[in-house]
Amino acid sequence: MAWFKRPTNLPPQDNGDSNGDSNGDSNQDFGAESTFAPVSDDGSPARVRTEGLWVKCPGCRTILFKAELEANLQVCAKCGHHFKIGARERIELLLEPGFQIVDGNLRSTDPLHFADIKTYKSRLATAQKHTGLNDAIVTALGKIGIHDVVLTAMEYAFIGGSMGAVVGEQIARAIDRSLASRHPLIIVAASGGARMMEGVVSLMQLAKIAVGLAQLDEARIPYICLLTDPTTGGVTASFAMLGDLNIAEPGALIGFAGPRVIEQTIRQKLPEGFQRSEFLLEHGFLDAVVPRSELKSYLARALDFMAVPA
Ligand SMILES: [Zn+2]
Repeated sequence: MAWFKRPTNLPPQDNGDSNGDSNGDSNQDFGAESTFAPVSDDGSPARVRTEGLWVKCPGCRTILFKAELEANLQVCAKCGHHFKIGARERIELLLEPGFQIVDGNLRSTDPLHFADIKTYKSRLATAQKHTGLNDAIVTALGKIGIHDVVLTAMEYAFIGGSMGAVVGEQIARAIDRSLASRHPLIIVAASGGARMMEGVVSLMQLAKIAVGLAQLDEARIPYICLLTDPTTGGVTASFAMLGDLNIAEPGALIGFAGPRVIEQTIRQKLPEGFQRSEFLLEHGFLDAVVPRSELKSYLARALDFMAVPA
């Protein structure tokens, strides 16, 4: 969360907030990679935006044609790198057409009146404008194959997919919907963890969601968690690892603390591929690593296996 640190040489910005896209800067690499920055005659950087057409794969450095990447579900055809996708794309990918979006009307009240270099209120407003969502999550009711499910997907582009009161409440409501309808719950995690601008309110969500999941377990209603790149912090430490089935996309960063913090703490070099889904599968933290193109059929088969009545 490097964006949180206040640069000492900058005057504090107020909440005028006219620059459109400075939320969750950890997510900015995507745009930056698709922009070449040659220098013009007068020496100033003349940025040529190629965003509309091409994107560079962080996995193999191939320049990919965006339309082809889209047709391939945002997976690099050369190396299989899985690009991040938004919550709505995720829902469209997994559910049959005709699903219904629910609980999208909740908004954060900024309980701590938090401000760092910007006010939390202005960060929220920017993220809302940028993503068209009220917070970092979208819940949908629909079908996977023949099975009715409650699916809730986190939106990384909204302040790093961080979990504040709204995300927590929306997951709690999704659990309630599962309990009431006996439809399995699927959560797609994509998050930097708890939302520090909501402090302890954000941490309280961990307990609230864990209690709900325990109720699901008692009622014998399946809960599947799909961990995507990245799933870290308080989200990994709570609901993302509590599924009856915990599966992940290939190459996803999954962990609690970041590798640098761990290396500094244990004073040891971490092994290759540490905190990536394949490593976690090998060490028993995941049940499967499933490529994006096979996710829907995998989930349908898992629900068949869990003997969920259609
Ligand atoms: Zn690639």
